This record gives sequence, C-alpha cells and structure tokens, in this order.
Amino acid sequence: MDYRDSPEEAAFRARLRAWLAENAAQFRATGDEYWHQAGRWHVALYEAGFFGLSWPKKYGGHELPPVYDVILDEELALAGAPPRPSLGYLVHGLDRHGSEELALRFLPGMINGTERWCQGFSEPGAGSDLASLTTRAERDGDEYVIHGHKIWTSYSDVADWCLLLARTDPDAPRHRGISAFVVWMHQPGVEQRPLKMINGVSAEFGQVIFDGARVPATNMVGRPGDGWKLAMTVVGHEREPSTLGYAARYRKTVRALAAAVAERGAEPPDDLRWAAVQAEMLRLHVRRRLSEQLDGITHTSDGSLDKLLMTWVEQSVGHAALTVSGTRDPEMLATYLYSRAQSVMGGTSQIQKNIIAGRILGLPTA
Ligand SMILES: Cc1cc2nc3c(=O)[nH]c(=O)nc-3n(C[C@H](O)[C@H](O)[C@H](O)COP(=O)(O)OP(=O)(O)OC[C@H]3O[C@@H](n4cnc5c(N)ncnc54)[C@H](O)[C@@H]3O)c2cc1C
Repeated sequence: MDYRDSPEEAAFRARLRAWLAENAAQFRATGDEYWHQAGRWHVALYEAGFFGLSWPKKYGGHELPPVYDVILDEELALAGAPPRPSLGYLVHGLDRHGSEELALRFLPGMINGTERWCQGFSEPGAGSDLASLTTRAERDGDEYVIHGHKIWTSYSDVADWCLLLARTDPDAPRHRGISAFVVWMHQPGVEQRPLKMINGVSAEFGQVIFDGARVPATNMVGRPGDGWKLAMTVVGHEREPSTLGYAARYRKTVRALAAAVAERGAEPPDDLRWAAVQAEMLRLHVRRRLSEQLDGITHTSDGSLDKLLMTWVEQSVGHAALTVSGTRDPEMLATYLYSRAQSVMGGTSQIQKNIIAGRILGLPTA
C-alpha cells in the first residue's frame, strides 16, 4: 500500500497549506472564544474550497475521495487551526433518509455554514437507551406540535435547525413509534439552557426544552416511524473512520509533550511513550480504513471498533498531557479534561463494547 500523496493530492495539500499560513492564525482560540468563532471558521473554510470535500456536488460538496478529508485534517492539525466542523453524520442522515426535496433544501446551507445545526436525540432519561425517548410530536393539521426535553445538545446555542427525534406513535413498539424532524430553533416554544463543561466551556452545548414548538409535517425526515433508522445511520457515521481525522491532532499533542520533556532534559514518562505508540497505531488504522473505503468495503458495526480505538487514544494522550504538564499548562489540562467526554459522546464505550460483542463477535447478549 502506498500512502504517499498522488500529484493531485500533493497540489491540494500545498494549496491548503498556503491558505492556512495566511488565515489560520485569526481562528486560533481556546475556551468559549473557540466556540463563538466556530461558525466563522466553517464559512471561511468552505468559501476557500476546503470543506465538504467528499460530499455530493449537488449539495455544494466537491465529490473528492475521502483521502482529501484526511489531508485536510492533517494540515489543520499541523497549522494549529481548529478542526473541520463535524457534520458528516447529519449530512449522511438527511441524505439517506430525507426526500430529495428536503435534502436539496437543507444540505447546501448545512454544508456551506450559512445555516447552523444541532442534533436533538439524547434526553435526561434516554441516552444509551435512546429508544426510551419521551419527547412527543403530535399532529395538528399540517404541522406537528412538540413537547419534550433534550440534553447534551451540541451547538444548540447557535443552531438554526435541529434534527430532532420525537415519538409520534405512543402505541407502536418503542423503536417504531419514533419519527425525525427538521425543526426551526428560533421560534416560541424552544428554550435553550447552556451547560457548563468540566473544562469551563459553556458555549459548546446545552439543554433544549420544547414546549409547544411547531414543525411543518413536510419537515419530517422519511415517513412516520422512520426515526430509529435515521438515528442508526447518524450514530453509525458519528463513529466511523472519517471522524478519526483527529489522529493528526493527537500526534501533534504527543510531539508537543515530547518537546516539553526534552526541554527539561528529562526522560519521557511511560504514559507519553504509550500515547505515542497509540497515536501512531490510530494513524495507520485510519489509513487502512480509507483504503478499504476506496476498495468499496463498507463497515457497519465496525464503527464501534473505530470509536473505541479513538477513545483509547484520546484518553491516553490526555493522561500523558496530565502527567507531563500537571495543571501548570491550561491548554494541556483542557486536553485531559475534554478527553474524558470522548468515552461518552456518540455512544459510551460500554455501549460500543456491547455492540462489538453482539454484532461483530456474535456473543450472546442479555
Ligand atoms: C461532549 C458531548 C457531546 C454530545 N452531543 C450530543 C448531541 O449533540 N446530541 C445528542 O443528542 N446527544 C449528545 N451527547 C449525549 C450522548 O450521546 C450521551 O451522553 C450518551 O449517549 C450517553 O447517554 P447518557 O449520558 O444518558 O448516559 P447513560 O445512558 O445514563 O449511561 C450511564 C452509564 O451507564 C452505562 N450504561 C448504560 N446502558 C448500558 C448498557 N446497556 N450496558 C452497559 N453499560 C451501560 C453507560 O456506558 C454509562 O457509563 C453528547 C455527549 C457529550 C459528552
């Protein structure tokens, strides 16, 4: 397998590197400021021709092979720029389950960053057991009326639209009574309450209370009862290798930690050595998954393996950051603290292990 850039890939990398040298610095930020400028960063990246690389042209993408996304991730990490906006799972969810009309209406704005989105799945009583969700959408003429409580909703403070799961048929078996909607967030009956994270950030996610918010029936994604299928597509893509672009970022952190240790004239601690091995393993794993994608091999439950692997690496890097820098370096402390969330978001590590046990290894499940 030859992992070197083709001439086209090398030209793309050079163009991107030059653009980042001019533009990345203004977007370097931490804490809440990082999240406040995320929308501007998205639009800048898109307008320069560096976002939506592998998505269909009809939605404003470039239809390039997925390796271009990896080049993008690598160069963003190298330049110390923010990561690319994480939206792929929503794009796949709407593209696969929405009508052509709905996809053409909503995907271009989602991809070019002029319309911001959030994912309203989890509830206080429905996270791992998502099918127990109780938010309800009741038909009223040409509309549905929504009541319920969503939580851990990333970007809910800035979102224009929410991809929402709600129960439309309380009498159906619980997986079949759920439907998906595209809901306008700036309306009466939608209240957003920010949540402060352990790293001090309060602009990343929040709770959303729906109390009589309305959505046109035409904004249902798919048919009544199709919500669970959409949810499985969305979480499947949330866990897949394309989001493993973070590998480049982990390597960069490991190198920065190694440089800090070398500066002190000390030996690298075991935590750092282990993080370096894991980060390199993840980089090679991402490459292998990409080769498989290019060969037309698709994975379903294997996304759970990828997610678990990524979590292990991120948390190893986080531990190394804490060991090397203690609480002296706020950026490294934030790296450690954020790594704790990785084993929860997009489905917990325990749930990934259950999926691997049942669907990949074929072990009996409870
Ligand atoms: C940073 C971040 C961003 C997020 N963004 C979003 C978002 O944008 N939209 C959204 O809808 N949600 C979002 N989430 C929510 C996330 O999907 C849920 O937190 C996750 O699915 C777990 O649900 P829970 O928090 O309710 O935990 P619970 O389901 O209550 O789990 C609690 C503990 O019990 C364990 N557990 C539960 N069931 C089982 C089981 N069957 N077997 C073994 N162990 C089990 C879990 O692994 C966990 O350790 C986000 C979460 C984080 C941390």
